[in-house]
Amino acid sequence: MFIVLLGPPGAGKGTQAQRIAAATKLLHVSTGDMFRENVKAETELGKLAKTYMDKGELVPDEVTIRMLLERISRPDAAQGAMFDGFPRNVVQAVALDQALAAKGARIDRALLISVRDEELFSRLGGRWICRSCGTLYHETNDPPKKPGVCDKDGGELYQRDDDRPEVVKSRLEKQKPPLDLIGHYRTAGVLSEINGEQSLDAVTAALLTVIEG
Ligand code: AMP
Repeated sequence: MFIVLLGPPGAGKGTQAQRIAAATKLLHVSTGDMFRENVKAETELGKLAKTYMDKGELVPDEVTIRMLLERISRPDAAQGAMFDGFPRNVVQAVALDQALAAKGARIDRALLISVRDEELFSRLGGRWICRSCGTLYHETNDPPKKPGVCDKDGGELYQRDDDRPEVVKSRLEKQKPPLDLIGHYRTAGVLSEINGEQSLDAVTAALLTVIEG
């Protein structure tokens, strides 16, 4: 089975993809994770991707599609996969459709996780991380006792480069699933929409119901 998870940045695609992968044993393919691994390893691909990621922009299709197609050509993706963060537009969707068609497969489900803009901005913009122990805080939902300082070890709190408010704004403007992408999967008859503002468990359950249905 091949599944795509659609939704704006901050909708919880990554978190839900991990939970669904654990429940269904489907391979989890995240282009965002692949780019972050390349940035960390300072590969040529990573250096290029970083120039876009730092501005909250999409990495060019040609580069992203090549990376994704290489990933799904490996044996562990033969039976199925769940794509998280790919496709971001119709050009990418068509490239994925063609690659799957060549294996005699297709996208079986497209799951759109919807969350309102105000909620997305607060989720992404308010996240702070302890530099020494990695504990996550949220400015309003789960703040540290003293701003900028970790409750656990007094470490300095920082924001992910692409979680800074000016970049979050750009990510939300430039990276919402475009209507024609949603239409692409609606026309194929595989689209389902899930309310992403429920509890994490409720969203997972709703997604699993569609996947197994
Ligand atoms: P994500 O973890 O999905 O939010 O992705 C982090 C960043 O990686 C995005 O802001 C983009 O710069 C880049 N990225 C991830 N997936 C794609 C994609 N399918 N197409 C273009 N850029 C992507």
